[in-house]
Amino acid sequence: MNSKREKLYLEIESKSENESLARVIVSAFAARLDPTLEEVSDIKTAVSEAVTNSVIHGYEGNEGIIKIECEIEKNILFVNISDEGVGIADVKQAMQPLFSTKKDEERSGMGFSFMEIFMDELNVESESGKGTKIMMKKIIGGK
Ligand code: ATP
Ligand code: MG
Repeated sequence: MNSKREKLYLEIESKSENESLARVIVSAFAARLDPTLEEVSDIKTAVSEAVTNSVIHGYEGNEGIIKIECEIEKNILFVNISDEGVGIADVKQAMQPLFSTKKDEERSGMGFSFMEIFMDELNVESESGKGTKIMMKKIIGGK
């Protein structure tokens, strides 16, 4: 095989105990790019936030499948995390710092802000009733 892209596909059940599993698997995949500890920590945080959102908001604690697709191309890690949950009516509003639909449940509304800060690119596609797809990119050794 001559392809420069390396891929990882993972499907996990929507359970909070799978957040740490997802975080560890994605960071282990990213390890082949020889990231710094800080870069590993950034990736782990972003993955945790996205998976937590699918568990809590997307599936609202009910059963569901979360798909995680990772790709490495040169020194770039791409991570897509998607659910087929309730979706987001207004993505722009949801991505505002401190915006949360669950503030009463000790959510601070900072998940998307962390994904944005710790990764190099963040895109969100969502549709009410259909689900949400988070697309993130991290350049390793870029700084
Ligand atoms: P925190 O992440 O700080 O605990 P939060 O989850 O409410 O709080 P964000 O992660 O920034 O904050 O998400 C903002 C809002 O976007 C959520 O309150 C929720 O309404 C919506 N949201 C995020 N992810 C999803 C998802 N996968 N499915 C449905 N709604 C989502
Ligand atoms: Mg969140």
